Amino acid sequence: MAGEETHVVVVGAGQAGLAVVARLRADGFAGHITLIGAEPHPPYQRPPLSKAYLLGEMDRERLYLRPEAFYGDHAIDLRLGSEVAAIDTGTRVATLVTGGTIPYDELVLTTGSVPRRLPAAIGGELDGVLVMRDVADADRLAPELVPGRRVLVVGGGYIGLEAAAVCARKGLAVTLIEMAPRILSRVAAPETSDYFRALHEGMGVTIREGVGLERLLGEGRVAAARLSDGSEIAVDLVLVGVGVAPDTRLAESAGIAVENGIRTDAMGRSSAPHVWAAGDCASLPLGDGRIRLESVGNAIDQAEAVARNIMGAGEPYVPAPWFWSDQYDCKLQIAGLNTGYDSVHVREAGPDANGSRSHWYFRGDRLVAVDAMNDSRAYMIGKRLIEAGRSPPPSVLADPATDLKALLKG
Ligand SMILES: Cc1cc2nc3c(=O)[nH]c(=O)nc-3n(C[C@H](O)[C@H](O)[C@H](O)COP(=O)(O)OP(=O)(O)OC[C@H]3O[C@@H](n4cnc5c(N)ncnc54)[C@H](O)[C@@H]3O)c2cc1C
Repeated sequence: MAGEETHVVVVGAGQAGLAVVARLRADGFAGHITLIGAEPHPPYQRPPLSKAYLLGEMDRERLYLRPEAFYGDHAIDLRLGSEVAAIDTGTRVATLVTGGTIPYDELVLTTGSVPRRLPAAIGGELDGVLVMRDVADADRLAPELVPGRRVLVVGGGYIGLEAAAVCARKGLAVTLIEMAPRILSRVAAPETSDYFRALHEGMGVTIREGVGLERLLGEGRVAAARLSDGSEIAVDLVLVGVGVAPDTRLAESAGIAVENGIRTDAMGRSSAPHVWAAGDCASLPLGDGRIRLESVGNAIDQAEAVARNIMGAGEPYVPAPWFWSDQYDCKLQIAGLNTGYDSVHVREAGPDANGSRSHWYFRGDRLVAVDAMNDSRAYMIGKRLIEAGRSPPPSVLADPATDLKALLKG
């Protein structure tokens, strides 16, 4: 049980790092807390970086998860622009790149993930080739979004599609390529891919599926892209959205077990004593296997579970996944985990319902996930049904005449 002399050091001042320290203080932790972040900004939310912030509709300060005064008021020693270079799990000391050392009693790794980049050998280091992970990336990209320019988005996942939507709204000519046979293939059913393909094409975006990038061409700055189907297109800008990898560098160099993320038990403990992990960087047990989730909801919930367990709660963390994405006027909300689904049932609202639609994923007769487009009621009810382990018959869910709320009763 953590006491007044206990020193908790949290490495990574992002969504999960903040959630750990805020939960510790909210639950009455009276020991010392140090939160160390490599970026110069206090903990901030990343989702607007590819949405409202990139569009120029949101100020930097509104990204920040807490006002600066929060940290002093809660006796949290926030060290920004400060990177941990190594941890010694035997002597329990963290060493900064500057050489300073910080002893700890409990250490939490919330180091997040790093974007995959294109290799230099295929032009990945040309000017005008950008990724989207942090404020600095968004600030580099925003001034490049000049109407009339031609942008190539590489990767049809959520971040690529959101960035494509912003570019289209800003008046750029957008081409998006996806190597897999369809956009969103890693995360959603064909029905959801179809919905977003039609949405983007309706806004003038060219989507080319089953097409990869062979190489980028240009002298200094990118000027063209050669694609896997042999075609070549002229481009002014390339945005790479080909996924992220968990940031496990620190854990690996400390000899901590890594398995698609820092391997934790259900409590959030890593393989090293007194070292915990949460958020994008952590892989946790689920059923017979392991899972790593990249979402705000998981970063918060898992981090809070770790904080409670540091205080001795002994509560296993059971994820209740949720996610959202904003593209043009469509708000997609997702509840549950669709891995292993074997059928999808579509519910369409009436013609004047702003494109409202929901896709219900089943494994056998078990409801496992829902994608709700402009339908927050379907999302809310789906989330509650999934969390309660309840599975109404697919035909009932798909019937637009069904009052979804009534399904929660009884
Ligand atoms: C553009 C974008 C849009 C997104 N949109 C959505 C969305 O719509 N919905 C959703 O649910 N999720 C979304 N996500 C994902 C979500 O933001 C992440 O899952 C979440 O931020 C993970 O939180 P985290 O604390 O694990 O990592 P992060 O928030 O990435 O924080 C990790 C921090 O640790 C720091 N760090 C790493 N190593 C060290 C070290 N050695 N020393 C000190 N500091 C270190 C990093 O610099 C970073 O600041 C989006 C992500 C991006 C990039």
